[in-house]
Amino acid sequence: MKDGIERAAELLAAARRGVAFTGAGVSAESGIRTFRGENGLWRQYDPFKVSSIDHFLQDPSAYWTVSKERYETYRAARPNPGHVALAAMEQAGIVRAVVTQNTDGLHREAGSTEVIELHGSGRSVACLDCGAREGRAEVQARLALEMPPRCRTCGGVHIKPAVVFFGEPLPAEAVERAFTLARECDLMLVVGSSLVVYPANGVPVAAVDAGAPLVIVNAEPTPLDGVATAVIQGPSGEVLPRLLQLARR
Ligand code: NAD
Ligand code: ZN
Repeated sequence: MKDGIERAAELLAAARRGVAFTGAGVSAESGIRTFRGENGLWRQYDPFKVSSIDHFLQDPSAYWTVSKERYETYRAARPNPGHVALAAMEQAGIVRAVVTQNTDGLHREAGSTEVIELHGSGRSVACLDCGAREGRAEVQARLALEMPPRCRTCGGVHIKPAVVFFGEPLPAEAVERAFTLARECDLMLVVGSSLVVYPANGVPVAAVDAGAPLVIVNAEPTPLDGVATAVIQGPSGEVLPRLLQLARR
């Protein structure tokens, strides 16, 4: 039997309408910590307090205090070879799009042009009361003086990054596009996702249900390993460039 990476490379070489589905793991080697898994942020913070919409409305400073601590790492993060390989797969006509659960913007920065952000983007901030928008950097800059930060337009405290919190719906247009791409794809490539976050984890399932082969690149086992054609356990920043190289032989 061929090992996982050889089998995956064959599938990649044959794909024309592949879709990559990515999670926090693809950005781990850029220095951004994942939520789950070994060294995940949820071992340090309470996910409900930090990023559920109910708690945010009561006490926005819980989110912004963590954000104050972590933003510098986030701001300094650059795409790693995993993001770059995914952009090259789009260029090579292997994948049509990246559907991501990440909010860090690194896929676009690496050169992927079709990026569907299921959980929004952490690069901008919107006021839930008046709708005013601001860049993330400007809000972060005043956290030293103001906690929680206030909306520049209405003075309210409900200014929130444009990411999907627990208890909030996903952006409908992105969801529809992601499921359409999944149903039409000829390969589903999952990278760096624990595949336990609902409803985003329905995207690879939809591809499998439509008959597409599934390749999973993740540091630990996932609930979909059993239905995958190939599973590669390893760091995506090393596995993806290797996979692309093998697919191009
Ligand atoms: P997750 O945190 O639940 O799981 C990440 C998975 O990646 C884990 O299974 C882990 O073992 C694996 N992993 C860690 N390092 C890896 C590496 N170098 N190579 C390959 N795999 C690696 O992430 P998720 O499934 O994406 O879902 C959780 C939520 O976290 C999403 O809603 C997402 O919005 C959010 N999130 C985003 C970011 C970001 O934007 N970079 C960071 C943290 C969390
Ligand atoms: Zn406002």
